[in-house]
Amino acid sequence: MIVRRIALNGWRNYDFETAEFDAGTNVICGANAQGKTNLLEAVYLLSTGRSFRSRFDRELIGFDCGGCEVLADVRSHDREQTVQLRLVNGRPKRITVNGVKKTAGELSEVVNTVLFCPDDLNLIKEGAAVRRRMMDNAICQIRPRYAQLLADFNRLYENKTRILRDWREKPSLLDTLDDFSDGMARVSAQMIRYRAAYARRLCEAAAPIHRDFSDGGEELSVVYKTVGTVTDPFASAKEIYYQISEHQEKHRQAELDSAQCLTGAHKDDLEIAVNGRAARAFASQGQTRTAALSLKLAEREILLAETGEYPVLLLDDVLSELDARRQEFVLNRIGGGQTLITCCEDEGISKRTGGRVLFVEGGRIRA
Ligand code: ATP
Ligand code: MG
Repeated sequence: MIVRRIALNGWRNYDFETAEFDAGTNVICGANAQGKTNLLEAVYLLSTGRSFRSRFDRELIGFDCGGCEVLADVRSHDREQTVQLRLVNGRPKRITVNGVKKTAGELSEVVNTVLFCPDDLNLIKEGAAVRRRMMDNAICQIRPRYAQLLADFNRLYENKTRILRDWREKPSLLDTLDDFSDGMARVSAQMIRYRAAYARRLCEAAAPIHRDFSDGGEELSVVYKTVGTVTDPFASAKEIYYQISEHQEKHRQAELDSAQCLTGAHKDDLEIAVNGRAARAFASQGQTRTAALSLKLAEREILLAETGEYPVLLLDDVLSELDARRQEFVLNRIGGGQTLITCCEDEGISKRTGGRVLFVEGGRIRA
């Protein structure tokens, strides 16, 4: 899929600005704080309906504006389509595709993106929440049913956490505790099967990429970790449900004492290792960056296999800390689909990739 053109009105530091992109590589150049990441963020919005760096939509609206609009012409599934998102302070966002109202979840049927930004280094070094989020975002793009499971799970988790926190002041809350636990076990069982399947594909796709990236010197592995009593995350949802319920029963008192949910898919993790050693503890800076990039490029391959089209690859500040050989590897690897890559100076990237260059300055874009 290709984003051909994007118009930004009141979006971050852009107002009444448009950009046209090539189907291949697009190098977005500019000094610091000019709007490079803001442009990538708008393209990401087309696939998810939200930002990758702000929790609140109001932060996306230009400082002096009451609302904003992102409008894009895209080619996807052999059709020319128009995606429009409108945010107005204090109102729910309005999303349309070809003039028809859509939910944020439905956008992934039209546009898919894979983003790599400096924060993605946290995938390797930070706690499990970042890796769960990566997995969840990726699965939501290919399995719409998973997005619903995730929403159900979050609702159950919030309710159960509230009960565990407040039951001492209001003991009647305990009447519904077991129902919420049961709901969490049922939904977790289904999520675990999706996540285990995704982790296996991610490992299969990322290992060869990382091997090439490191000139054959490093072996990357990804192993899915879930509730301790689950012996096989690929077993039937019913079997996993029973095993989670067993864990819940054992930890019921501990949950009441600690006021925390101790059993469920919210504790899952991906164990990422380089040459058999936990990357979180032992990977160097370069290995960390390489491993994170390998995972993202693997996500792109999985989306291609699932949808038949390359997603739009968004690379924010990816080359700055890579040595020349690794830069070359990235630039060679991004062929095939559309890529938007930001950098402070072109440094020949456009020549090396044959790509289009867009210069960004103070919220203005020129080719
Ligand atoms: P860097 O090279 O440092 O990463 P960048 O070109 O990626 O820079 P952006 O993150 O795109 O920079 O931000 C550009 C400018 O947009 C910043 O000065 C930022 O303060 C400004 N900005 C952020 N949010 C808004 C907003 N809601 N309204 C107006 N301007 C904003
Ligand atoms: Mg930036």
